[in-house]
Amino acid sequence: ESQLNPNYSFENFLEGDSNRLARSAGLAVASKPGGTSFNPLLIFGGVGLGKTHLAHAIGVDIKDKYPEKTVLYISAEKFTQQYIDSVKKNNRNDFIHFYQIIDVLIIDDVQFLSGKTGTQDVFFHIFNHLHQNGKQVILTSDKAPVDMQDIEQRLLSRFKWGLSAELQTPDFETRVSILKNKLYRDGVDMPDDIIEYVAKNIKSNVRELEGAIISLIAQSSFNKKEITIDLARVIVEKFVKNTKREVSIDYIQKVVSDYFQMDIDTLQSKTRKRHIVQARQLAMFFAKKFTKASLASIGSQIGKRDHATVLHACKTVDNLSSTDKQFKKYVEDITKKLSV
Ligand code: ADP
Ligand code: MG
Repeated sequence: ESQLNPNYSFENFLEGDSNRLARSAGLAVASKPGGTSFNPLLIFGGVGLGKTHLAHAIGVDIKDKYPEKTVLYISAEKFTQQYIDSVKKNNRNDFIHFYQIIDVLIIDDVQFLSGKTGTQDVFFHIFNHLHQNGKQVILTSDKAPVDMQDIEQRLLSRFKWGLSAELQTPDFETRVSILKNKLYRDGVDMPDDIIEYVAKNIKSNVRELEGAIISLIAQSSFNKKEITIDLARVIVEKFVKNTKREVSIDYIQKVVSDYFQMDIDTLQSKTRKRHIVQARQLAMFFAKKFTKASLASIGSQIGKRDHATVLHACKTVDNLSSTDKQFKKYVEDITKKLSV
């Protein structure tokens, strides 16, 4: 079982300036798996920009051209789980062997391996084995290797061996062609001005772009109303509002300090009083978890600390939440407040 989704094909992956390099590198890899210098091929970019789709497309195309090759798609999360299970069941070697005999290994969202040293370790050995034997490795990540946190240096340097290709946000023309292609495949007619209205207003995430069109179609058929620009406006507004509500570091500091009934100045102060230190560490932890800010930038915004302090804070919170019940409750409560 390759776990590949045949709908995620190259044909359905519309080309534009935003993805041309990644897409053509993918095509090159698919025509000569393991035989190009793009090994590993690492595709990186933000949420909903097509990383998973493109990774599948490469696998699907390889399967098509080389039916005898074993191709495996797996998320880094599932890979990690399998590894942990294999350790529990005492068959770590079987796990390793299974992955070492694959011809094309596709691992999605490798940022998930952050901080998971055991899994990184085993992946390092599998990677080396595959690479030495001319097998193809394809990885995706939400960040470029230089920006990855808590991934071992030796693994990061392997990630950089081949090609790192970025998926950027598609321009207006590409967004329109993605929507038209989707509507065509679904057999739905929609006036151009409405397609263009949606494409003009939803810019940063292809998944949301498609989501808006899907709810537009659903709303109109549910209410037996024609698809009009007014209906499109209502739906687009909902999508845009939802995405704007990204939590900021300021907001996190406000929620955390309210929770502990202190003000933000206290939270940021230099004091070493335990409960204030903990509040500050929680704010740093949540800033790391809920924003895209770097450790350095989080530190500078939360009381002018350096990146090592933030890293330490994140680790402390991780540890305390598994050893201290009261602290675990803080984390859960604040998570809820931040996720409303
Ligand atoms: P990511 O893994 O980067 O979060 P996905 O691969 O899941 O993103 O893509 C989100 C959605 O957008 C999927 O339905 C995918 O088919 C679609 N999509 C993204 N880029 C393109 C593209 N260039 N052409 C067609 N569909 C695309
Ligand atoms: Mg994905």
